[in-house]
Amino acid sequence: MHYDVAVVGAGPAGCMAARELASRGFKVLLLDKYGLPREKACMGLLSPEGRRLLEEGFGPLPAECLAEPAEALGVKVLSDGGGEYLLPFSGEGLWVRRASLDAFLARACGAEVRDGCRVTEVTVGRFYVRIRFLHEDDEEEAEATYLVGADGAESLVARMVRPEFYRLHTLPALERTVLVLWEGEADWDSRWLGMVALARGEGLGRFFVRAGTVGMAVSCGEEHRWQRELDTLSEFLSRRIGLALRGEPVRMLSVSNRMARGGRFNLGAGSALLAGEAAGFLDPWGFGIRLALESGKLAGECIADSAGENVTPHLHYLRRARPVLEMWAARGRKRPAGMVGELDLSPWSDERGRTARRDLRSLRRRLGR
Ligand SMILES: Cc1cc2nc3c(=O)[nH]c(=O)nc-3n(C[C@H](O)[C@H](O)[C@H](O)COP(=O)(O)OP(=O)(O)OC[C@H]3O[C@@H](n4cnc5c(N)ncnc54)[C@H](O)[C@@H]3O)c2cc1C
Repeated sequence: MHYDVAVVGAGPAGCMAARELASRGFKVLLLDKYGLPREKACMGLLSPEGRRLLEEGFGPLPAECLAEPAEALGVKVLSDGGGEYLLPFSGEGLWVRRASLDAFLARACGAEVRDGCRVTEVTVGRFYVRIRFLHEDDEEEAEATYLVGADGAESLVARMVRPEFYRLHTLPALERTVLVLWEGEADWDSRWLGMVALARGEGLGRFFVRAGTVGMAVSCGEEHRWQRELDTLSEFLSRRIGLALRGEPVRMLSVSNRMARGGRFNLGAGSALLAGEAAGFLDPWGFGIRLALESGKLAGECIADSAGENVTPHLHYLRRARPVLEMWAARGRKRPAGMVGELDLSPWSDERGRTARRDLRSLRRRLGR
């Protein structure tokens, strides 16, 4: 079967690219290795710009995609030196349920969706792509003119399209992350995402407290290290906000692509574009949904705009993605990068006290700047 565009990965980046192309009349195939809905380790905080992109592309989100409560105000940072900083969103954010959201986006994007299909090989020529995938142990094949690789942090498409880049820059930047969910409560306003910069340890701890559920995420290397990091975080939260946990936790392991910390992105090559975390679009604080949507839309637009021209979409994409990348880099030099301009960082960076200055230095170090 021949398609105009094959999209690998039905996360926000892939669904947005598929939506952009299908709405312009392109015949699109969207493949995902899991049956939908599938779980994704994610806190579910959607920034105002992410919300705008989603609603513009897909209309208002159905209730099943929203968490309870859905209102999201921004990020509250706690440091173990005693500092506490409210960093509000510039507009209205949302708390979403990732499994339901991604399944809705796939249903509504207008592409032919094949879930439970794991892509095992891609071959990319000029205006020609062949994709091999496994569906219930059967090997199948599809052909397309263009490809969008939106298959997440450990992208197979990125590995196959630019193997050297992947080996040199992506592999060393992959970071294991664990999200652990408990029953529990704490003295915490659910509308804020919590972040903790502890004096010891490596990354930033993140947490939410919502409707009797507590979610905590930490990133760092091997299991014994993240377990220690998680214990430190929950001890800190029980002292600071009276966190009380019950029952057996549910753990979800994931991998994040932190390539952008070093200012690197992989936008693909020729007729194959990469979007979302496959390309390295991940905010240094760990937020990726908005950038996945933005890059997916851009990848779709670049393919649509270059179709019929004798030039591969990669050149358009390189040029048009630059403002997003530059805005990000410029922000990081002066103040802690984050949410690409969507969080108001001034309550923190304008503070002159010693505690705030020390906390800010510690945060910069953690964000890799
Ligand atoms: C613990 C944790 C918490 C997070 N919290 C937030 C948050 O609160 N807010 C936020 O904005 N971001 C958050 N993020 C980041 C965010 O989840 C990701 O950046 C975002 O999901 C990236 O979207 P994507 O579309 O690029 O990839 P993904 O959402 O990862 O989607 C990739 C898809 O590709 C499919 N796939 C992979 N390989 C193949 C293959 N070979 N064949 C077919 N399909 C394949 C996968 O099944 C998956 O469905 C968090 C991440 C983690 C790990």
